[in-house]
Amino acid sequence: MMDEDFSQYPLELTGDDIPMVRFSRVSKRYGELTVLDNLDLDVAAGEMITIIGPSGSGKTTVLRMLMTLETINEGVIYVDGKPLTHMEKRGKLVRADRRYLRQMRAQIGMCFQHFNLFPHMTALENCMEGPVQVLGMKKAAARARSEELLELVGMADKRDQHPARLSGGQQQRVAIARALAMRPKVMLFDEVTSALDPEVIGEVTTVIRNLVDKHNLTMLMVTHQMGFAKDISDRVCFFFDGKIEEQNSPDELFSNPQKERTQQFLSAVK
Ligand code: ADP
Repeated sequence: MMDEDFSQYPLELTGDDIPMVRFSRVSKRYGELTVLDNLDLDVAAGEMITIIGPSGSGKTTVLRMLMTLETINEGVIYVDGKPLTHMEKRGKLVRADRRYLRQMRAQIGMCFQHFNLFPHMTALENCMEGPVQVLGMKKAAARARSEELLELVGMADKRDQHPARLSGGQQQRVAIARALAMRPKVMLFDEVTSALDPEVIGEVTTVIRNLVDKHNLTMLMVTHQMGFAKDISDRVCFFFDGKIEEQNSPDELFSNPQKERTQQFLSAVK
């Protein structure tokens, strides 16, 4: 097999103003199906980006690529200036090996529709597990940090409960605290409110809004809740067929969409 050539991509990003996340000409295919098509996307440090678009447009794939759950067909993804999907070998970029991926993946925190808390552990133990087992933090320090984060998501009083005793919204809040406990540079939210009863969606969106307002985290969120996207994002990206069809501030994109496909999508979801 011929060596793949990634020489047109820098080994790392340099300069004062490097993005926290960069997709550089990223393509992802499943057989004949192109899911991401030569995608360029920069997310600045501290920026909250919402990805919207029709089903199958590639939204979740963007997050899955960042979680290194999918191999990349073309292009390079960088996180905090370093390649995520590739690593340097003898002055050249080559595809990252599993060890490198594991190390890089630790910088990415994720929350999904299905929160998958460890059922046999309390809320507090759920939050402590990663820092102790993966980061090698001392138990006392991990406990202090986890208590702080449970406080942040309004779950301090439930810290000794097991997930089965918590509502969906409460479990999702614990899942957010658990992800934050790993001190990620980037947080990903994939339809975190989709599986929730309408009456508890508000408590989860409040927590995320609070993170946006008070913490300088870089976040990418996929959501079908346009109101929420409008409320909290710095920028909204409308995906269509694996490409960004249009992106803008939420005010502009929702009130004054330029492209016909965006207009159609927005009028259908209203
Ligand atoms: P969205 O989140 O916008 O609904 P996805 O990123 O989940 O879209 O998926 C984009 C496209 O990729 C869809 O057509 C989906 O069927 C396809 N796809 C996703 N995962 C796989 C897979 N493992 N194998 C084949 N096709 C897939």
